[in-house]
Amino acid sequence: MAGKIRVTVWNEGRHEQRKEAVKALYPKGMHGTIAGFLSQAGMEARTATLDDPEHGLSEKVLAETDVLTWWGHGYHHEVADAIVDRVQQRVLQGMGLIVLHSGHYSKIFKRLMGTNCSLKWREAGEKERLWNIKPSHPITEGLGEYFELPNTEMYGERFDIPEPDELIFISWFPGGEVFRSGCVWYRGNGKVFYFRPGHETYPIYYHPDVQKVITNAARWAAARVTIDTSKAPKYAPLEPISPKPVDMSFVKKD
Ligand code: ZN
Repeated sequence: MAGKIRVTVWNEGRHEQRKEAVKALYPKGMHGTIAGFLSQAGMEARTATLDDPEHGLSEKVLAETDVLTWWGHGYHHEVADAIVDRVQQRVLQGMGLIVLHSGHYSKIFKRLMGTNCSLKWREAGEKERLWNIKPSHPITEGLGEYFELPNTEMYGERFDIPEPDELIFISWFPGGEVFRSGCVWYRGNGKVFYFRPGHETYPIYYHPDVQKVITNAARWAAARVTIDTSKAPKYAPLEPISPKPVDMSFVKKD
């Protein structure tokens, strides 16, 4: 790929303004923290939030985006359907999409999955152990057999998603639940990665292994092509052909 990977880090950006604990943890917003470590990894990272005009996702911004990351939680319903249509088309053209944590309930993720994307949850600061079950995949480059996060919100199965094209991580929680916490799907010319960790009151996006996964995923998902598949054109033959008469020999009428 020529030049730097261009990432747009999207966030609702509301919890950081409305909850003191989240503001204290992420003074630049979770989007600021995520864009920060992606920039340090050599990418060109910009941010966009729900309250920006067009949620910060104009045609121009999306055309200049190789990978979009998405964090939403309390305000999914405020994302305009026209913007969801636009992001979906950009994914089908080839843009990568990384959906984080509570983004499982975002309009764009549910649109691309076609299922309810529901799950079980509990907020008790539990440890999470993420098993790396695809060590040959670019998303797990540099990771060990598993990694652990000391405090997380639990997400449990069944996660109502279509069968992932590639399953990258499975999580274990002390309460007994498991969860498909890293999943890949191919949609049109684009790649979609769902990554579970990211509850706003825990320092998840400062964790080195989480940063490694998101950085690897951005490199892997970055658009390789931009192809508009929204039209189904009538197509002229490449070789000369002549109109063929319809064969009715097998048709038996009563
Ligand atoms: Zn959460």
